[in-house]
Amino acid sequence: MSDYQIETKCIQSGWQPENGGPRMLPIYQSTTFKYDTSEHMGKLFDLEEEGYFYTRLQNPTNDAVAAKIADLEGGVAAMLTSSGQAANFYAVFNICEAGEHVICASSIYGGTFNLLGVTMKKLGIECTFVDVDAPEEELEKAFKPNTRAVLAESIANPALVILDIEKMARLAHSHGVPLIVDNTFATPVNCRPFEWGADIVTHSTTKYMDGHAMQVGGAIVDSGNFDWEAYGDKFHGLTTPDDSYHGIIYTKKFGKKAYITKATSQLMRDLGSIPSPMNCFLLNVGLETLPLRMERHCYNAQKVAEFLQAHEKVAAVNYAGLPGDKYHELAKKYMPKGTCGVISFELKGGREPAVRFMDSLKLASIVTHVADAKTCVLHPASHTHRQLNDQQLKEAGISPGMIRLSVGIENVQDIIQDLSQALEQA
Ligand SMILES: *Cc1c(COP(=O)(O)O)cnc(C)c1O
Repeated sequence: MSDYQIETKCIQSGWQPENGGPRMLPIYQSTTFKYDTSEHMGKLFDLEEEGYFYTRLQNPTNDAVAAKIADLEGGVAAMLTSSGQAANFYAVFNICEAGEHVICASSIYGGTFNLLGVTMKKLGIECTFVDVDAPEEELEKAFKPNTRAVLAESIANPALVILDIEKMARLAHSHGVPLIVDNTFATPVNCRPFEWGADIVTHSTTKYMDGHAMQVGGAIVDSGNFDWEAYGDKFHGLTTPDDSYHGIIYTKKFGKKAYITKATSQLMRDLGSIPSPMNCFLLNVGLETLPLRMERHCYNAQKVAEFLQAHEKVAAVNYAGLPGDKYHELAKKYMPKGTCGVISFELKGGREPAVRFMDSLKLASIVTHVADAKTCVLHPASHTHRQLNDQQLKEAGISPGMIRLSVGIENVQDIIQDLSQALEQA
């Protein structure tokens, strides 16, 4: 499908029915798959032959959706996970072990901040959080001999920092490590991290990809571009024999698909976290309309951002689509079709008016979610980022009065009307 435009790929990639086969992706709700000979099954276990044997490792429904997402990002292979959290964990853990180090953007999703700063630390993996807007000379200082990856979001949730992908890729590569970009908010429709040098892309498919708040899921996509063997001393898990698979060497046996194969055959095998086939089916339905929805999300968000910016009770609006926004130029470069539907803004007076405003909304709902068809709001300081202290909040680009507004695809006049009446109450 690689010659088609993204709108076509969203519909046509992945499931390829055989003659007389079902046009719609079937839900293979089966844990196991049947074989005629014991020898055949043995070859599957040796990774000698491709085929299905147990859904924790592979499932036809899941694989069709993984293939579609790999195609959408322009990658060579993808692995789906049961959540975006699992995707980011596996993406890093696949190439980084105890005693090693990663660099991560400080303005990052709260769950990723805890994952790297707290939980992975307990596994012996150290993380340095950096301000990705800092000059390269400054960022250089974060690299250590045991650094194994750099992780950042193309559009930071919720700070809406737009990543200078080329700059970060250049830095990572000059230190012989891959750049992992969490492309959840931009989606492959609006941002193509591999075209700017990123090596691995992750997603919380829970957000726009699904688009209807139906399933929690994640994905890891490999560009196939990072040369693991050139830095074999750092990535020995990929370049030396795997004792748990009869001594196969992933880079030798699987070439450009080494990274995803290792993630599946080691991390999924040992840690689990697969999505259910039913959830993959739902995700696939969502993906079909992703380009249409992203266009409308961006259109509506732009109108809402302009409305908020002109409102007397609003102190500040962050949306890269606004010409005065700090990230406007970077957004134009990396996301020419638009960024996403998420806006953050601050009411004059801080925390209390923010809460009064939220409680007065009628159409927009208060939910711990963003990036789906329905307009919704969240107060990061009292919800998603509740665990962070004021200093950490500041580092993550969040102020106590900040409201995160996820603009849906309803009629924009109705959305603005609702915000307007709630602002009167604030
Ligand atoms: C939501 C989110 C995650 C976590 O994904 P889950 O599917 O909720 O586990 C990771 N990264 C970003 C940017 C997110 O928005």
